[in-house]
Amino acid sequence: MNKSLLCLVLSETTLEKNKNILDTYRNFIDMVELRADYLTQREYAGIKDFPENIGIPAILTVRRASDGGRFRGRESDRRALLKQSLGSAYSYIDLETDFRDSEFEQRLKQSRIRIIRSFHDFDGVPANLAERIREMAGAEGEIPKAAVMPKSTKDLLTLLQCYKKLEDTEKILVGMGDFGFPTRILSNYLGSFLSYCARTGSQAAPGNKDPEEMVKLYGFHKIDNTTKIYGIIGNPIMHSFSPRIHNRGFKALEYNGVYLPFQVDNVGQFFKIAKLLDMNGFSVTIPHKQAVIRYLHGKHENINKIKACNTVIKKDGGYYGENTDVYGFLKPLKNYFGDPITQNIKATVIGAGGAARAVVYGLTRHNAKILILNRTEAKAKKLARIFNCQWGGLNPEEVKRIRDYSDLIVQTTSVGMKPNIKKDPISTFRFRGHEIVYDLIYNPPLTRLLERALDSNCKVINGEEMLLAQAQAQFQLFTGSDYIFPQNFVFEIFRG
Ligand code: NAP
Repeated sequence: MNKSLLCLVLSETTLEKNKNILDTYRNFIDMVELRADYLTQREYAGIKDFPENIGIPAILTVRRASDGGRFRGRESDRRALLKQSLGSAYSYIDLETDFRDSEFEQRLKQSRIRIIRSFHDFDGVPANLAERIREMAGAEGEIPKAAVMPKSTKDLLTLLQCYKKLEDTEKILVGMGDFGFPTRILSNYLGSFLSYCARTGSQAAPGNKDPEEMVKLYGFHKIDNTTKIYGIIGNPIMHSFSPRIHNRGFKALEYNGVYLPFQVDNVGQFFKIAKLLDMNGFSVTIPHKQAVIRYLHGKHENINKIKACNTVIKKDGGYYGENTDVYGFLKPLKNYFGDPITQNIKATVIGAGGAARAVVYGLTRHNAKILILNRTEAKAKKLARIFNCQWGGLNPEEVKRIRDYSDLIVQTTSVGMKPNIKKDPISTFRFRGHEIVYDLIYNPPLTRLLERALDSNCKVINGEEMLLAQAQAQFQLFTGSDYIFPQNFVFEIFRG
């Protein structure tokens, strides 16, 4: 089967603006789709010659509003525009399934312009999708296309099963939105004739990604059916830095792998996706670190104690769980307390959620004496009982107790995270300067809490260091190789 093409959707109001955008991205893409429904009427006369002016294969599309487009005129006007705009310079024309005009279609065939016969479903993934596409594929010379909107992990599974059923059928099949994003990158692996992309901020189709990101970060053109697939599951997930970390690592190692964000609302359904795609491994983040455990075929012994799994790898025909958060958390501490940590640290842990469990587990393995403070006191108490720690609520009275557990203060709650960057979970606590203050939050890199600690001359560690260290350990598990850090690494990953 031919390699999947990357098609840039042009949806500006003038042809000149469209050409400028094409020139920005020309090196990354194989073809364009001119969305003439976005053009102002003054531009209509130039549509016909557009492909000759740009020197790259082009699709002509005039999408009506009911299919997610901008064309608001009468259907007869739309058809007239299509007919008058079509010179033989176009390679393809996108016509909806209900567009039938035998004379016009005959003319297209004579001009060797291929018809992409399309339908859109913005409400989900139709159960009979594969059958519909197979039926459409019967029309000679046409390429059937469906753009559908998976709204759940189950929908994505249904869509991926369609690709399997249609392995030998030439088609364009695209998943829109965050749930559908992996299908856009895996276009070649899944056997779609093309995948769409667009300049960031373009409105044309939900889920279209920037071409540079698709090519440079995800290696769109290099993915084939020998590529090993990895990813991260979470909800929400599209903000994650992990694809930047792992895909850069694969590239540096010249490893044939790709790492994708999977928006997941049902972990059980996702395991079916992992098997269907024959995924080699994946990272797990909020809120699924506990939920994945019951689907594992085996797990590292520390998972029983931490009750959270952030790494899943394919092993012995099943999926095996690891937790690299403990390693990631401890690694930056070794600069301050030695390696191994031999001092008798007295530490406070703010929070009692999943991250706190890994932190408390890691610290108690190094004999630290710990005070756990949490908004929901009962959760602090529960965690403290398991690991033999002190505990309390997160109120000004209990916060005073930190003074007795202040070699290290670890902040593990989401308080202070973007967009609530002014928040500080222990705002009444006054630092004395000897404390090492570690905030697991990495966005922003300097939380209000860390700013206050720095002002009092404390040493601080932010969540970026843990995120990178736990990812480094994951990378080792995924590939068997060490992570090679590119130059300017932290800048590229977090601020690039
Ligand atoms: P989690 O299991 O949902 O726990 C959330 C914790 O935050 C709980 O202790 C919760 O207290 C507390 N919390 C939430 N909102 C609060 C509020 N308004 N006031 C006071 N406490 C509040 O989440 P998690 O997995 O532990 O993750 C927590 C944070 O750690 C996140 O910001 C995450 O990004 C970060 N993290 C960073 C890394 C890294 O590599 N840097 C790794 C893992 C996690 P209650 O029990 O009272 O609800």
